Amino acid sequence: MERLVGVDIGGTRTRVAAVQRGQILARRAFPTGGMAELQKAVEEVVREAGWSKPEAIGVGAPAPMDMRQGVILHAPNLPHWNGVNVVKELGALFGCLVFLGNDATCAAIGELVYGWKSKDFLYVTWSTGIGGGIVAGGEVVWGTTGQAGEIGHIPLRPDGPRCRCGKRGCLEAFAGGLGLSDRAWEGLGERLSALELVKRAQQGDPGPARLVDEACQAMGQALAIVAELLEPELIVFGGGLTHSWGFLEPKVETALREMSRVKPRLELTRLGDDVGLLGAAALPFHFPKF
Ligand SMILES: [Zn+2]
Repeated sequence: MERLVGVDIGGTRTRVAAVQRGQILARRAFPTGGMAELQKAVEEVVREAGWSKPEAIGVGAPAPMDMRQGVILHAPNLPHWNGVNVVKELGALFGCLVFLGNDATCAAIGELVYGWKSKDFLYVTWSTGIGGGIVAGGEVVWGTTGQAGEIGHIPLRPDGPRCRCGKRGCLEAFAGGLGLSDRAWEGLGERLSALELVKRAQQGDPGPARLVDEACQAMGQALAIVAELLEPELIVFGGGLTHSWGFLEPKVETALREMSRVKPRLELTRLGDDVGLLGAAALPFHFPKF
């Protein structure tokens, strides 16, 4: 299998690429819509790559899903995709194998195959929300339903802020982009995006600096839990908040070192924004055997 299509469905944008031996031959990016928009983009990249049809399509999505059936479930951030059987529908349209997986785990596959190529690492998406994917002993860890590695919902403080998942005190409630915005509103009375909050913290504004410190402390604590559990060599970061990596990384690293005996390196993804896309294209080779 060489002629692969990777699809990375995001909350705001969807990216599609024709990938052969790790090279992106054609790509499209567009505001996330439904199946009609996706079909058009896949047709375009396949044509541009000079193929008659793809041999397999891998799809990553930030949503709970039934991986076995290939159905996206209860996805409030993906209204066009709720209940859609992606595997069946895309498979019927293109006459090829289709695989559906968690987007952060797809990013971990991208990093395993084309990025740092470590055999023991955790991949963390630090963005609006916080997602993760685990590679242990060179194998992708999927869990029972494919949602393993969701470090954003590790409970850190039972009396902490309410998380969007319904629980309290998850990492995401402290350090996710939306969680940080909520905390700026509740704690500082200001409507700030997470990026604005980080910028103000960098300028030495004490209120935002305190919230960003707490977020990095929470990230370090969650990483310490994972590090003690899995002893990874590496923790790889991607996602929008890592644009301020130089400011955030030392804070996260200090917190991690204080709380964990295991000393994984912290690195940025080597694949930039393509990590999820390349990983989705490689999903057919790493899909769990249910
Ligand atoms: Zn949560």
